[in-house]
Amino acid sequence: MSMNKQGRQTQPRDGAASNPHPTATGNRALMLEEPLIFEIGDSERTGVDWPADCWGESRLGDLARKEPFDLPGLSEPETIRHYTRLSRQNYGIDLGLFPLGSCTMKHNPRLNEKVARLPGFADIHPLQPVASVQGALGVIHELADWLKKLTGMPAVAMSPKAGAHGELCGILAIRAALEKRGDAREVILVPESAHGTNPATAAFAGYAVEDIPATEDGRVDFDALVERLGPDVAGVMITNPNTCGLFERDMKRISDAVHATGGFVYCDGANFNAIVGRVRPGDLGIDAMHINLHKTFSTPHGGGGPGSGPVVFSEALAPFAPLPFVEQAKDGSFRLVEEETAEDHHADSFGRMTAFHGQMGMFTRALAYIMSHGADGLRQVSEDAVLNANYVLRSMEDMLEAPFAKSGPCMHEALFSDKGVAEGFSTVDIAKALIDEGFHPMTMYFPLVVHGAMLIEPTETESKAGLDEFLHALRSVVERAKAGDESLHGAPYHAPRSRLDETMAARKPVLTYEKPEEAIAAE
Ligand SMILES: *Cc1c(COP(=O)(O)O)cnc(C)c1O
Repeated sequence: MSMNKQGRQTQPRDGAASNPHPTATGNRALMLEEPLIFEIGDSERTGVDWPADCWGESRLGDLARKEPFDLPGLSEPETIRHYTRLSRQNYGIDLGLFPLGSCTMKHNPRLNEKVARLPGFADIHPLQPVASVQGALGVIHELADWLKKLTGMPAVAMSPKAGAHGELCGILAIRAALEKRGDAREVILVPESAHGTNPATAAFAGYAVEDIPATEDGRVDFDALVERLGPDVAGVMITNPNTCGLFERDMKRISDAVHATGGFVYCDGANFNAIVGRVRPGDLGIDAMHINLHKTFSTPHGGGGPGSGPVVFSEALAPFAPLPFVEQAKDGSFRLVEEETAEDHHADSFGRMTAFHGQMGMFTRALAYIMSHGADGLRQVSEDAVLNANYVLRSMEDMLEAPFAKSGPCMHEALFSDKGVAEGFSTVDIAKALIDEGFHPMTMYFPLVVHGAMLIEPTETESKAGLDEFLHALRSVVERAKAGDESLHGAPYHAPRSRLDETMAARKPVLTYEKPEEAIAAE
């Protein structure tokens, strides 16, 4: 352990022991070790020169703070360097291929950013008079129209703020519809391969969750599902394409069977990117489905921006959709429907999910994306996404077990297990070694139905050359694992931080700064 210039202890990274010339700073060439802002700034400095009397007389009287805040002050260049250095320790879609399965980490076109920054969209406030934001309401209305057309569904709620929020919206509408007919039901059925948000949503909305088993080929077991249906089942939540990367071919039969027993069908539409322009969920008998604008329609997510999860509804559920929503009057003007009134035919709405209308910044970006592709372009997007995933699947199946590859082509993502990787090596070793190769890892250990799952979603925005580079890295790492290369257990060696204790990092994160004792002693 050594001290850097701010007096902070720097941990030698794993692998540093084998480096004959560890650096004095802890830096690794242009990868800079960066202390916390509390360690480099102090309350005596500031990047701004305030005139001494600029605040005038304090109106706070006795309440004015007497002691200065102990906040770190930095000059402008120090501030910029601090955050730029931190940003370089991160990974993003602008840096390289981001193979995280189920997350659809596609390129965020800069045209979208340009449109979203237009002052007429960026500088408005949700409480402005409706007459002064007609253009913004028009954008919401037009995007809603596209989403209804692309899904073949008659209604859409734009306000949910992410996929999971959309799930809650859909399930609350189902609950409202059942309550209206005086039919309290207690159970929601969810397949074993579902994203964790599905059972969590159903439980949060007060339902008991029961698993639907899968068949050998990775799809919902239709017979087992039908057997479980009955007067206590409020509905099913099915992801299509599912999280094994497969299309649920029985979807229409499933919907018909659920409807025949008085239940509703919720579809998790997070994987819509694989089928846009090819399949309309409305034709499959679905009653509600969320669309992750931040996945399918390219709006930034993860560290890059908030999500947005509009929910499309069938005729049967539309009356129960949440408020507010945008309506166009006969004269072409837009208004916001904000209250449950019988005259407006919105008396059955289950209420409100959010204070305002949703994620405006994501609406502008998604609409820009949709309009720049057009309907044919969007179909091409989904076809290319599926093609790229199948290229990954077929390129790796000689090295990794692909449990469902015998069921035919995959959709937008390729699923592998760690079966066949040498004894003592697991998915985590492969994922961490990929970091050393300059790639973000794939989704690990999800879906749970596959041992040591590795779920890879390349998306349509990667070129063949980009895919080949990734596959070259992945193959070399898997080869090392098969050859029993023990050094994999310590990977990553070249990242800003070496392998963390992931349980401790998640369960006991250290989120507050404490001055080290030597620093206090030196004051
Ligand atoms: C991403 C995802 C969700 C949740 O969406 P968020 O926008 O992250 O809340 C749900 N289901 C599946 C299959 C997903 O991939």
